[in-house]
Amino acid sequence: MSILLQELREEIVFYGRQLLKSGLTMHTGGNLSARDRKTGLVVIKPSSVAYDKLTAEDVTVITLSGQVVDGNYGPSSEWPMHTMIYKHYPRVCGIVHCHSLMATAFSAANLEIPLANHELSVYCSSPVRVAPFEMPGSEELGLSAIKYLGDDNNAVLLGNHGPLGMGASLWHAFDTACAIEQAATIAFYARQLGNFQPVPQAGREKLRACDPLTQPDTGELPVEIKAV
Ligand SMILES: [Zn+2]
Repeated sequence: MSILLQELREEIVFYGRQLLKSGLTMHTGGNLSARDRKTGLVVIKPSSVAYDKLTAEDVTVITLSGQVVDGNYGPSSEWPMHTMIYKHYPRVCGIVHCHSLMATAFSAANLEIPLANHELSVYCSSPVRVAPFEMPGSEELGLSAIKYLGDDNNAVLLGNHGPLGMGASLWHAFDTACAIEQAATIAFYARQLGNFQPVPQAGREKLRACDPLTQPDTGELPVEIKAV
């Protein structure tokens, strides 16, 4: 028997395991969600359930006001930040927030992550900004995330906490989270080597045009980004 929004809930399970496997998070840390474009409902990782134990039935379905519609557990404590972002960015349908090591180190050093690689240059027009520390789970954290995402970037660093990537789908948001950690790591090592250079401006403009969120809305979700 199928369950409500089964496919999207299976995506949460899949990308949750990918977060662990790729080392972008540990134990139950971080959270991810996706919005169903048809119903407007949000599927989100449940609170305190380990990614490797998570099933599609466990994934919580909520409304944009946080009311639980289905699932075996309550939503991640970060649900206010997720729903605030969906309300503010109507085309965003996926959010991945993790505690990946190098990006979080940049946030603790209050250092923006430069556009060190082509992947991040697709998703951001400027370096990833650092939002000041706010309590996890608070509305202030959501407001701050939106303020520092701005209108030009799909990525932000939550101060002393970790990165957040958003996208037109969960795939897109997960890819953004990977790009953030890669860029932070590359910038860190390149600065040790000396003569660090970000991606040149002309290249960045071409890359940015490949982002599904900078393209006209066709109503279709991107499967993958072909140009890169
Ligand atoms: Zn967190």
